[in-house]
Amino acid sequence: MEHSNLSFYGLGIAPKILEIIEQLKFQTPTPIQHKAIPLIAEGKDLMGIAQTGTGKTMAFAIPTIQKMASTRDKALVLVPTRELALQVAESFTKIGRPFGIKTAVLIGGEPVRDQIRVLAGNPRVWVATPGRLLDLMEQRKAPLHDVHTLILDEADRMFDMGFAPQIEQILKSVPKERQTLLFSATMPPEIFLIVKRHMRMPTSVEIAPPGTKAENVTHELFIVRQDMKRTLLDKILNQYRGSVLLFCRTKIGAHRIAGGLKQRNHRAAEIHSDRSLGQRREALEGFKSGKYRILIATDIASRGIDVKGIELVINYDLPDDPENYIHRIGRTGRAGHPGHAISFATADQKDEVNNIERMIKGTLPISTHPDIPPDAFSAAYHPPAKGGFRPRGGSWSARSFRGRRR
Ligand code: ADP
Ligand code: MG
Repeated sequence: MEHSNLSFYGLGIAPKILEIIEQLKFQTPTPIQHKAIPLIAEGKDLMGIAQTGTGKTMAFAIPTIQKMASTRDKALVLVPTRELALQVAESFTKIGRPFGIKTAVLIGGEPVRDQIRVLAGNPRVWVATPGRLLDLMEQRKAPLHDVHTLILDEADRMFDMGFAPQIEQILKSVPKERQTLLFSATMPPEIFLIVKRHMRMPTSVEIAPPGTKAENVTHELFIVRQDMKRTLLDKILNQYRGSVLLFCRTKIGAHRIAGGLKQRNHRAAEIHSDRSLGQRREALEGFKSGKYRILIATDIASRGIDVKGIELVINYDLPDDPENYIHRIGRTGRAGHPGHAISFATADQKDEVNNIERMIKGTLPISTHPDIPPDAFSAAYHPPAKGGFRPRGGSWSARSFRGRRR
């Protein structure tokens, strides 16, 4: 990947920390580090989605220490397990020690007394499991009033382990004026609820799972008029038997498509931001268990959908951001099984398709369906060439307008 071009310079990291990074022999930032560090350093709330082993710890430890270097603030990191607490604390210690910022580990299975003593030494980074932190809070030994950075690491595992009520309670006890960061490999609906309730318009940074290479997936592109997409979809759904994840651009679109499919007796469910938490969970669980064959999703709602073995991804609409193409197809062709992605593009979307092709470093082969009139990219949609070629309005604008309406 472009990975090797990335550098820790230019991310807004202070010289002293760059020096530490150099000593740690990290030569290039991982993709999540490259994306998240500048945003966190600016003080933004952020939810980072990336698989384990992608370097998330340093992605938050580096900018957090940097912010703390010029304040007296504290940072609280909540983690699901003791082992993880120790690992995370080690990273914070490496970056923080040269600044005189001490890190404490507050986990179960060790005498509370010892941890109370450690807290008396004014550590400014607390890495804690929720249960032990609450114990300490109840004993008034862990005041949270100067915690201005709160980090939830491996949020999905914390939920799996049933920590939701404890996390809620802790979130209520930290100052409202704070930066909140959430990291997770997946984004189940429960976590979205936390994000909605407790974070301030977080920026979302998602890194495609490693191994989501275009090679595991075969691609196909239909150039089709907007008003023929539905007919084409029906034909395709009849051709395939397995589970289908369908993406569209808007939640209204998702709702319409789902409604239409249900009317035509397909087992379909939808997942987007207009659905309640319960509805989303039901849709996802139903999709996993096979109750629904087709799941219709918007990009945001699909973040981190952790379903394996999806036979087919359909891009009913192309994604707004070409990178989302990668995230979408990451749901098919998992664990060595080949997957397939079918995209619908309208005649005016040549540029979008080019951008996607650049992203996947490959081409999207164009297919046609015998029952659907084939369309073609309108050449005139390109910006006029230097010599003064100009589209003659008429034909192409009529066509793309028709395509865009509904
Ligand atoms: P995650 O939290 O995403 O599972 P970790 O933060 O635990 O991943 O990092 C995984 C491993 O990668 C750790 O051993 C860490 O030291 C190493 N690592 C992190 N960032 C870099 C980097 N930029 N270059 C090389 N190794 C790194
Ligand atoms: Mg981690």
